[in-house]
Amino acid sequence: MRETVPIFRGDGVLEYVERQPPELQTDDDVIVRVEACGICGTDLNILATPPAHKATPGIVIGHEGVGIVEAVGLDVKSLQPGDRVVIANRLTCGQCAYCRRGLDNQCTHYQTIGTTIDGAFAPTLRAPARALWKIDPAVPRDDAALFEPLSCALGAIKRAPFQPGDNVAIIGAGPMGLLFALLYRTLGAGQIILLDVAPYRLDFAQELGMDAALNVTQTDAPAEVKRLTGLGADIVVDAVGNQIEQAVRLARRGGQIILFGLRPHDHPPVNQYTITRYDLTLHGAFVGLHPFAQTIQLLEGRRIQPSVLVTHRLPLAELSQGVELMRTQRAMKVLIEM
Ligand SMILES: [Zn+2]
Ligand SMILES: [Zn+2]
Repeated sequence: MRETVPIFRGDGVLEYVERQPPELQTDDDVIVRVEACGICGTDLNILATPPAHKATPGIVIGHEGVGIVEAVGLDVKSLQPGDRVVIANRLTCGQCAYCRRGLDNQCTHYQTIGTTIDGAFAPTLRAPARALWKIDPAVPRDDAALFEPLSCALGAIKRAPFQPGDNVAIIGAGPMGLLFALLYRTLGAGQIILLDVAPYRLDFAQELGMDAALNVTQTDAPAEVKRLTGLGADIVVDAVGNQIEQAVRLARRGGQIILFGLRPHDHPPVNQYTITRYDLTLHGAFVGLHPFAQTIQLLEGRRIQPSVLVTHRLPLAELSQGVELMRTQRAMKVLIEM
């Protein structure tokens, strides 16, 4: 049966076309019947004009998918039809100098499902078995759909040694910032303080029960974080990507900063003196190195329910509307249902 899918044409354009569903091509392939796929900040960047993230025109985008295995190639041993799976979307080469050092996230020859090859904003996905992780069907679909962004946050958190009770300040209360907040709460953080400029996001953080949500346009955030924590945050996360100066102000002496957001065209100033004088430790953290097994275990253990971030569920035909809702910050996380 033919299916209708949105094809990315470049310049922010999605064109709906009818196609034959993908079939097994190699013995490592798996065919997945997609149940739902989350809209990611990366998708907003791909669809921005001019684009803020590269994607190959002619492909189906979408990488935060969950679905049911429909067919497997002859060499696939880890999965069988009927299994529920989630997607680890970066396909590393296994051969470059970084892959051979175990630094897969720095692979220089990777492909990405939903960016360079067909993704999951479609009823049917073909992916190599190694990109798919089996997840217990008892995990609610919408929690499973947040596997990929959750894995990125988990991978970043792993970088900065953490002790239960640590006070954490997170700059950016969008979906990623709030995933950090949920994870740190699961880990037993002391206070969790969110910073943003958007009232919608700050209200959302507050409704999730975070300890404080500071509007940086109205508050002297470093002074307020100091007042709340005594010394400043033990750990600061920049989930935005250009907030290093603010992060340095929020951290206590000897504190740690996780630089997570990606803003390739921004060049924020850096207060190097403060970093040295106050013994701050900075961690650059890109997507995460092997965070997938633990992310599955967290979700299967029901230790975290990231679906609390999902505000809208839309059909595939309304992908553009979903993107617009997120772009204009009238939605937190939008899931596309197939
Ligand atoms: Zn994503
Ligand atoms: Zn590689």
